[in-house]
Amino acid sequence: MRMQPVVWLPRAIMQDMQTDADLWYDRETGGTFMGYWAESNVAVVTAMIPAGPQASHERSSFLPDQSWQQAEIAKHYERSGRLDTYLGDWHTHPDAVSNRLSWTDRACLKTIIRTPAARNQKPLMVLMCGKPHEWFLHPWLCQFRTKLFLFEVLDEREPTILAYSSRASETGEEIAKL
Ligand SMILES: [Zn+2]
Repeated sequence: MRMQPVVWLPRAIMQDMQTDADLWYDRETGGTFMGYWAESNVAVVTAMIPAGPQASHERSSFLPDQSWQQAEIAKHYERSGRLDTYLGDWHTHPDAVSNRLSWTDRACLKTIIRTPAARNQKPLMVLMCGKPHEWFLHPWLCQFRTKLFLFEVLDEREPTILAYSSRASETGEEIAKL
């Protein structure tokens, strides 16, 4: 029996995501997660890098400012003593009826897995669906699985998100529904 994967997410980061999602509604926004794998099925998010100044926010698409994000990822990697690496991304689907990844989301995940520089064979993609003050998190962990010894298919698993309080967020604030 395989254990259900778990993603630990700081409450402060959840709140930053919600603030950003509210701000950009009804356009998409998002960001990048950094952290580490505590066990093969347990990811711990320690930092979130926002979309960046040149990001494109559209009604049904989102493109982060990649060069700005890459520089921030490198900075955080050094600051963490090279422990925190790129775990994955999140973005909003305003007013979405489905919690599933879109065709472009899947294409993006395949590119991440195939890009050696990303060093990420199992990227996390968290969708935030809803509207201001009513966002729901839908996390996906994806990796390639070979089918019939020939075809690579994207295996999508739904991890459980667990919130934790990091030092920066221990203010006892109330967390709105996510
Ligand atoms: Zn999407």
